[in-house]
Amino acid sequence: MADIYDSIIIGAGPAGMAAALYNARDRFKTLVLEKFFPGGQIISTDRIENYPGFENISGPDLVEKFKKQAENFGAEIKTEEVKKIIKLPDDNIEVNCGKKTFTGKSVIIACGSDYRKLGVPGEAEFRNAGAGVSYCGTCDAPFFKGKNVVAIGGGNTAVEEALHVAKFAAKLTLVHRRQEFRATPVLVEELMQKVNSPGGNIKLQLDSVITTIEGDKKVEKVKVKNVKTNAEEYIACDGVFIFVGTIPNTGFLKDFVDLTDEGFIKCDQGNLRTKVPGVFVAGDCRVGAAMQLATAVGDGVNAAIVMKQYFRDPNWWNQT
Ligand SMILES: Cc1cc2nc3c(=O)[nH]c(=O)nc-3n(C[C@H](O)[C@H](O)[C@H](O)COP(=O)(O)OP(=O)(O)OC[C@H]3O[C@@H](n4cnc5c(N)ncnc54)[C@H](O)[C@@H]3O)c2cc1C
Repeated sequence: MADIYDSIIIGAGPAGMAAALYNARDRFKTLVLEKFFPGGQIISTDRIENYPGFENISGPDLVEKFKKQAENFGAEIKTEEVKKIIKLPDDNIEVNCGKKTFTGKSVIIACGSDYRKLGVPGEAEFRNAGAGVSYCGTCDAPFFKGKNVVAIGGGNTAVEEALHVAKFAAKLTLVHRRQEFRATPVLVEELMQKVNSPGGNIKLQLDSVITTIEGDKKVEKVKVKNVKTNAEEYIACDGVFIFVGTIPNTGFLKDFVDLTDEGFIKCDQGNLRTKVPGVFVAGDCRVGAAMQLATAVGDGVNAAIVMKQYFRDPNWWNQT
């Protein structure tokens, strides 16, 4: 009979690696299943300045430390894409990866999410704050101190993040495809105050979309098209912040746990329990996630700790 793991973790991003470290250090037999390679989203950045304890570290360097630390305590990491999860009659959980299946007493889903892309020329080429394209104002705004930037989007996150980036940038042009913003009125009011204040550094470019991001090694300008008149113009800039949403990697979980309309996994946010006993969720794939490295790590730790409560008393699952 195949080994039964105490904990199977889906995804080797920051949330999954933190959970693996805690589970393995607690002497639980721990398996991490990762479809690409360990690291998750953070591996693609060369500068992290907001992870406590590290003034400045690259994504790959931090990931290497996460991985080494978890493996030193005995966590196994395998390259497998999880296709399906099934709760078995004996209360164990089967994790199906196509040709291989693994069985665990509990599962932590830490499959993350991905930033929604514009899909315009130049976006992939300059993707990373060093070259000029960013999807996270909270992460990257300080790198654009005194620079001219363009931001794109019209929802809550877009307006909130644009206001944040504008505290650092010399000038921010917010490009939005409609006249009206989807963001809540209070945020829109704050935005309009800044736009209309004399000497303010935020400008709006409404009814407009970005069609190309251009430059030589770094972003130098974007082409903007007015969707009503089709008129095109260039805006010179050093950076482009794309705030058009996130897509959780949860397609394979549709019939297993409850998802929001956007695909985020529903859970109780204190204990990270899904609706399936023994199945926890951690990091950017869950509802209400702050979408930050440190919060993903915190979630992984939290899930690993509350898992012990489930092992001690499975009935705890249904208690509030
Ligand atoms: C370019 C960039 C720069 C960033 N910079 C910062 C920063 O400076 N500071 C900050 O706080 N945050 C930053 N972030 C955000 C941060 O990286 C994320 O919040 C964090 O990585 C989320 O961790 P996670 O483990 O929840 O998910 P992820 O990092 O998305 O990891 C999920 C992992 O699960 C795997 N996976 C998905 N589906 C499956 C499946 N079916 N089977 C097996 N494996 C699967 C994925 O391949 C991935 O490795 C940045 C993000 C990006 C993209």
